[in-house]
Amino acid sequence: MSDTIEKIKCLIIGSGPAGYTAAIYAARANMNPVLYQGIQPGGQLTTTNEVENFPGYVDGVTGPEMMVQLQAQAQRFGTDVRDGWATKVDFSGDIHKVWINGTKELHCETVIISTGASAKYLGLPSEQHYLKMGGGVSACAVCDGFFYRNQEVVIVGAGDSACEEAHYLSKLCKKVTMLVRSEKFRASKIMEERVRKTENINILMNHDTIEVLGDEQVVTGVKALNKTTGETFDIEATGFFVAIGHKPNTDIFTEFITLDETGYIVNTAGTSKTNVGGVFVAGDAADHVYRQAITAAGTGCMAALDAERYLASKE
Ligand SMILES: Cc1cc2nc3c(=O)[nH]c(=O)nc-3n(C[C@H](O)[C@H](O)[C@H](O)COP(=O)(O)OP(=O)(O)OC[C@H]3O[C@@H](n4cnc5c(N)ncnc54)[C@H](O)[C@@H]3O)c2cc1C
Repeated sequence: MSDTIEKIKCLIIGSGPAGYTAAIYAARANMNPVLYQGIQPGGQLTTTNEVENFPGYVDGVTGPEMMVQLQAQAQRFGTDVRDGWATKVDFSGDIHKVWINGTKELHCETVIISTGASAKYLGLPSEQHYLKMGGGVSACAVCDGFFYRNQEVVIVGAGDSACEEAHYLSKLCKKVTMLVRSEKFRASKIMEERVRKTENINILMNHDTIEVLGDEQVVTGVKALNKTTGETFDIEATGFFVAIGHKPNTDIFTEFITLDETGYIVNTAGTSKTNVGGVFVAGDAADHVYRQAITAAGTGCMAALDAERYLASKE
């Protein structure tokens, strides 16, 4: 074994709410966790200014502030938090091998995958501008819908999640305009029916988003294209929701870990166990349904407890 190989009892890959919660539990169970942060230290929440639904923060908290606190809490119990990106794994043997930044080789007794998922966006410059400004573009209706109560919003998407989110928004907002790129929904019939029957959802089939409009600070509307007539027109809105899917950050695990057809890690129901003994999953990397900080944290706790029991069973 070369000197550059490091032995680790519990490796945590990812520094979102799932990873840091796993770290808190693993550190307090004397598992000496090492956590690699990846290219987005703190995870998805570092891109949002307001988190109002995480229990314990009566007045809400900014995403970056919450993640700084979670990191400090994990470090308080001895978690070794490091810069670095897991670039390759080999889970074929009893010792789980992970490479960091393509060079450093780790031999781990247990691995907790908490690499999260990334929301897909349309990629329009105006969309990215208001997303960065925190001024009215969102990929999460459950997270941000509340900020648009009694206002008019636009949502883009055609799948089950888009219908779910449009329906969620319809209960908060005065009017929801749903832009569907093609002539057909991709959603199940039942979900399509639900949005079609909702009075304050206006569905525009075969429409593209051309531009997100605003005053440089906040969104004021959306320029849409009717692909049937070729006509462009403006829709007034204070919020623009993108619901065109998420990409789980699981590419490096494909060879060894069972993924579903969209790339989410498949876990044994009610546990954090993957198909590989000693490798566990937490957070959005395995969750295409809830995708919330609190559920990520909850499954982070589960993964650390499952890892601790796995190690105990080996003694
Ligand atoms: C704009 C926005 C606002 C949101 N608002 C809310 C809200 O108000 N309330 C709420 O509950 N939820 C909210 N969410 C959802 C919430 O952020 C996620 O559900 C949660 O962050 C998922 O946590 P996670 O730990 O699974 O993964 P993530 O937060 O996605 O973190 C993944 C981590 O893995 C790391 N990583 C990825 N690949 C690798 C690799 N190969 N090697 C090493 N590290 C890696 C990344 O660097 C990152 O640190 C919001 C999401 C967004 C995008």
